Amino acid sequence: DVAAHWLFGDQLGPHFLTAGPDGPHRDTPLLMVESRGVFRRRRFHRAKAHLVLSAMRHRAAELGDRVTYVRADGYVEGVREAVGDAPLTVHHPTSRAALKLVRARPSTRVLPARGFLVGHDAFREWAARSGSGQLRQETFYRWVRGNHDLLMDGAEPAGGRWNLDHDNREPAPRGAADLGVPAPYRPREDDIDTEVRADLDRWEREGTVEFLGEDGPRRFPATRREALSALRRFLEVRLPTFGTYEDAVLAADPVMSHSLLSSSLNLGLLDPAECVEGAEAEYRAGRAPLNSVEGFVRQIAGWREYVWQLYWHFGPEHRKANVLRAHGEVPSWWEELDSGAVTANCLSHVLDDVRATGWTHHIPRLMILGSYALQRGWDPAEVTDWFHRAFVDGYDWVMVPNVVGMSQFADGGRMTTKPYTSGGAYLNRMTDFCGDCRFKPTVRVGDDACPFTAGYWAFLHRHRTRFEHNPRMAQAVRGLGRLSDLDALLEQERDRAD
Ligand code: FAD
Repeated sequence: DVAAHWLFGDQLGPHFLTAGPDGPHRDTPLLMVESRGVFRRRRFHRAKAHLVLSAMRHRAAELGDRVTYVRADGYVEGVREAVGDAPLTVHHPTSRAALKLVRARPSTRVLPARGFLVGHDAFREWAARSGSGQLRQETFYRWVRGNHDLLMDGAEPAGGRWNLDHDNREPAPRGAADLGVPAPYRPREDDIDTEVRADLDRWEREGTVEFLGEDGPRRFPATRREALSALRRFLEVRLPTFGTYEDAVLAADPVMSHSLLSSSLNLGLLDPAECVEGAEAEYRAGRAPLNSVEGFVRQIAGWREYVWQLYWHFGPEHRKANVLRAHGEVPSWWEELDSGAVTANCLSHVLDDVRATGWTHHIPRLMILGSYALQRGWDPAEVTDWFHRAFVDGYDWVMVPNVVGMSQFADGGRMTTKPYTSGGAYLNRMTDFCGDCRFKPTVRVGDDACPFTAGYWAFLHRHRTRFEHNPRMAQAVRGLGRLSDLDALLEQERDRAD
């Protein structure tokens, strides 16, 4: 009696089709809707548009006659065109807007979410047990590890420690231009990519759609087969060095030992369970050290799951949070990814990377892009929107907590105990950008003043009453009192902000 099971564009792997009481029947026809309206409404990175369309069309080609693939202006029109008002099933979508849409449609059964380790009900029970305080990532992560028997020796964490972060904060080796690890998997484009590129060119020519950034040869997997190859290559040759330099940044080696798997996980091409179990197998076989394996498992079983759950748990208001009352506009050079408008070496490099690929690793997102926006007091909702559109792995569920909560501290600390921002000294320690930068990380005022150093102090000054009683910030706020040049610094930053 179900006319079709609707697959969203981020539900592309086989685990979204496994039958059972919580899944579609084995023979149920499938429906996919490619909505062009999504690209008309917002200006996305072109590499992201390419990846998503390529992945959807590849999946449709694999599914053959079982799927009806509709190209429409919007989801509602597309579904109506394909099945009218007939009954549908669909797995819980990943955004609030999409959930509202499927719930509003008559005779649509929403099946539980797939693609995450922890179900909504299990999380709710855990959150209720955890009381009313902050839901700490570390506590959540340990609970997930225990529950899923991940990297456990009986009731104890493998190797006796839950957290090996301390081993994973090394700067890159001095003088090294790159980490020297084998390159990540690169897919090869095919006819479907050619067709996607031609469509995107045409839409741009027609003037109905505008994109950001460059759509060079596709770098991220668009099929299950490609995603599995990327995972295998990461586990075999790159995982061993994942941990130690996880937080380091090298100008000439933007990927370092990161997995580049976020877009495949978020498209649903990979299941998180196979990623973390694969990493554990490398550890058990003695092929990868614990600090790397624990670091990787923490990113997926800890951070990714935590962010997914908090998106739903915090409710729709989280996206609007703005406790620091930041109302600055994101400037046009930032929106345009125009590194030519920027002098600071780190920011210019990272904007170049985003323009060329739609990706940078965690530390450039957090400590360069996010920190810069936070220091300048840009509106967190605008910053979130920008990250969502400019990154190949950006989806509503992952961007709202990561940007509003983690990066912009706009929720006043529901996810972190202090804002993630620093002066140039941190960047000088963890990156190799400062050596040939026009600015000096130690200088606060004057022509050589590093915008991160000056911006850090100006930010602390602006919010001193909020942070002077925060145990992790109080010392830094007290440092303001020792700055003899604070007035000059504030004047300089006011002028710069203008
Ligand atoms: P690796 O370093 O190899 O990590 C392995 C995996 O862990 C990632 O593939 C990802 O699936 C997961 N992961 C790690 N941290 C997070 C996190 N905080 N939230 C969700 N998953 C995480 N990640 C996204 O997937 N989409 C986003 O839109 C996104 N936006 C971000 C915005 C900001 C401001 C910040 C600070 C972080 C953001 N992240 C986002 C998290 C993280 O930066 C990326 O997942 C990671 O850089 C992707 O590269 P990778 O696959 O090589 O990751």
